Amino acid sequence: MNIDLTNDITFSELVNPKHKIKTIVIATKNEGKIREIGDMLNDLNIEIKSLSDFSNVPDAIEDGTTFIENARIKAVFYSKYLNLPCVADDSGLTVEYLNNEPGVYSARWSGDHNQKANNDKLVEELKKKGLEESPATYHCSLVFHDTNGNEIATSGKLCGIVKTICHGEYDFSYDPYFWIGDHTVADLTVEEKNKISHRGIARKN
Ligand code: IMP
Repeated sequence: MNIDLTNDITFSELVNPKHKIKTIVIATKNEGKIREIGDMLNDLNIEIKSLSDFSNVPDAIEDGTTFIENARIKAVFYSKYLNLPCVADDSGLTVEYLNNEPGVYSARWSGDHNQKANNDKLVEELKKKGLEESPATYHCSLVFHDTNGNEIATSGKLCGIVKTICHGEYDFSYDPYFWIGDHTVADLTVEEKNKISHRGIARKN
């Protein structure tokens, strides 16, 4: 499926009274994404919720083959289910010397959403190839979908190096292994990360 990145509206226009948007739901229960997307939507001055604020929400079936397809599947599914405007993020890591794995399977690379097991697998796969590091890229697609069918679809990337050694205290998934120069993404605060990250760039695009 080709998704048109020509948007009906921009994120900033969401607050235009004609769209009557009072609330946006961040369509995830992932704490790292909620923290980062919540921070970047802060300037809209509208109510921000996430799937964690609702009970018994079913899972969207993420059967797309690209980040943008999966983000759109989630945005459309949850906005219809909750009858509220939703923004969904589909994101992941591609590691050049590991044939660009894990890609869209980043959350499920080693079992289901097990962050520690995924990080261990990253280190093991590099070591199996006799490597201590590889060029890598974080990808993020953000899709906003509202109950009138207005849509925003954007993408962003962050290039760096994944290493078998980890550092940093902001413990969101692969971040302690993703190096930019002499520090990792896990050394950055949310505000610092959003200025340079795949997610922050998608928000600005
Ligand atoms: P999704 O919920 O299918 O989009 O899975 C995204 C997965 O990609 C996350 O669970 C992480 O494993 C990984 N990922 C995406 N963005 C980041 C990030 O900013 N830091 C660390 N890991 C990330």
